[in-house]
Amino acid sequence: MTSELLTIDGSSGEGGGQILRTALSLSLLTGRAFRIERIRAGRAKPGLLRQHLTAVQAAVAVGQARVEGAEIGSPTLSFEPAECRGGEFQFAVGTAGSATLVLQTVLLPLALAASPSTLVLEGGTHNPFAPPFDFLVAAFLPVVNRMGPAIEAQLVRHGFYPAGGGRFVVTVTPAARLHPVDLLDREGEVATSVRVLIANVPSQVAKREIAVVRRRLEPPEEACRVEQVCESAGPGNVVMIELRSDNVTEVVSGFGEKGVSAENVANRAVDEARAYLLAGVPVGAHLADQLLVPLAVAGGGSFRTVAPTPHTRTNADVIARFLPVDIGIEPDSGDAYRVTVSSREGGVS
Ligand code: ATP
Repeated sequence: MTSELLTIDGSSGEGGGQILRTALSLSLLTGRAFRIERIRAGRAKPGLLRQHLTAVQAAVAVGQARVEGAEIGSPTLSFEPAECRGGEFQFAVGTAGSATLVLQTVLLPLALAASPSTLVLEGGTHNPFAPPFDFLVAAFLPVVNRMGPAIEAQLVRHGFYPAGGGRFVVTVTPAARLHPVDLLDREGEVATSVRVLIANVPSQVAKREIAVVRRRLEPPEEACRVEQVCESAGPGNVVMIELRSDNVTEVVSGFGEKGVSAENVANRAVDEARAYLLAGVPVGAHLADQLLVPLAVAGGGSFRTVAPTPHTRTNADVIARFLPVDIGIEPDSGDAYRVTVSSREGGVS
């Protein structure tokens, strides 16, 4: 392990929890210790929230790490990993904080560990501003699996914000290394389908949301489904639009919230779906920031995407602190951008 301690400014760029999660993942993968300061300093509730603390605890367990500052509200954290080991893990956020973001923190280290893992994750599974479970399964994991490992996820119980109470199980069969992947074009026709989840919400809401998606995106009727979630700790509503091409699938979502009409919830998701479709790219805004770490760890790869978000640019900056990679983000044709990851030394294995 390299002993030089990296210092990361947790308030730089986008300034959110992503900086911490990316730093934890890459610390586990490279063995490099780091100290992060000013964690989420610009946010309304700065420092570590439950979701971030659970991600830290998950990283400590997976990497048998030494840690300082792992407390709710803490603005700084020091993290020094030992050896990354696969095994049986259970991580519970304890609130509706996103359990998929906890998984994001430890998934790649476990996908490159010496032995397989099974993880049980509890908390939010369908949260605004986090990858919904369905995005994980249909959009993110297929790309990561193409790079080498075999990762499967099964939903046991939905957890919607603000009640939480969700649970899912992930099995990881690791690979010796990640292989670069290139996603430059969408292959074949895009098949559009929509699923609306409702829990303790009138079914009329789902019908109105489906109507908006049908009017604006014209998916076939049989590709539009409403699912009543019976076992839920609280109310929930999410519109998930799946855009499936031969080589990649995107999932965009709109979350029901108090004071926002069903039509507006659906319109937000449709707007994002249309931006993706019009740009003619394979990788949407969220998948873009989430693919940077696997590509950097693989030591290469590229994709075309929509205009990069502050998350994507900030993630690229954090990655460059840990790994000898160049991440180019250049305008391409039309509204598209091309992201190219190239290694100065080869990937992590
Ligand atoms: P913050 O510190 O901003 O309060 P946070 O720690 O919960 O928040 P962010 O730093 O904002 O998280 O990171 C959110 C992550 O969730 C990013 O990787 C982003 O791509 C992903 N994400 C957000 N919304 C979606 C969505 N609708 N679909 C897929 N992924 C999403």
